[in-house]
This record gives sequence, structure tokens and C-alpha cells, in this order.
Amino acid sequence: MTTIFTKIINRDIPAKIEFEDDICVVIHDIHPKGPVHLLIIPKKPIVSIIELDDNDQMLIGHLFVVAREMGKKFNLEGYKLSFNVGEKGGQEVPHLHLHLIG
Ligand code: AMP
Repeated sequence: MTTIFTKIINRDIPAKIEFEDDICVVIHDIHPKGPVHLLIIPKKPIVSIIELDDNDQMLIGHLFVVAREMGKKFNLEGYKLSFNVGEKGGQEVPHLHLHLIG
């Protein structure tokens, strides 16, 4: 499935990209719910936590390490990290992403 996040990863549509490595991209949310609202998005198009494979454990761990680095980069003393999981969990974009709101 091609989502808006796949298009952002492929540079087909613009976004404010804060960080990128082989595994993920970090963008600024277009409708921020705090002074800093980042989305940490794996390049692998996993739909949600529900669709996660057992062998995606390293990938998920990596998203949290990147979150820690973003917290440092923005000098945040604290922040919220969350996944919305599935439509009924409030997930609008069916491409896994970790919200960092500080
Ligand atoms: P969720 O409800 O967990 O799927 O979150 C999707 C998030 O993506 C929302 O907070 C949206 O504001 C954000 N979003 C949607 N489209 C874009 C976009 N083109 N660039 C940046 N953030 C976006």
C-alpha cells in the first residue's frame, strides 16, 4: 500500500525532514500537537503494530533510540511517545509511525 509517508520517504511529496538513516525518517507533523511534534517513520512499510513481525524487533528498538536522539537535539526535558494502532486506535495513516510530542 502506498501511503503519504511512503511518498514523503521517496521524496515524491515535500515534508520537513529532520533526520534520516537507512531504517527511518523523522519528519515534523503537519498539525503539531505541541511545540515539537515529530513522526518517526520506518522506511519499511509496516501498516501498524498489529502487522509487526517478530523479526521487526530491532527496527522498533531503533525508532526509540532515534526518539531519544531527537529529544536531545531539541533539548526536551520530557516528551510523550506514542503509536496509534489501527483505525479503531485513532491511526489515520496506515504506515507505522511513532509520535514524539514535546
Ligand atoms: P496517526 O493519526 O497516528 O495516523 O497520525 C498521522 C499524523 O500524520 C497526524 O498527526 C497528521 O497530522 C500527520 N500528517 C498527515 N499528513 C502529513 C504530512 N503530509 N506531513 C506531515 N505530517 C502529516
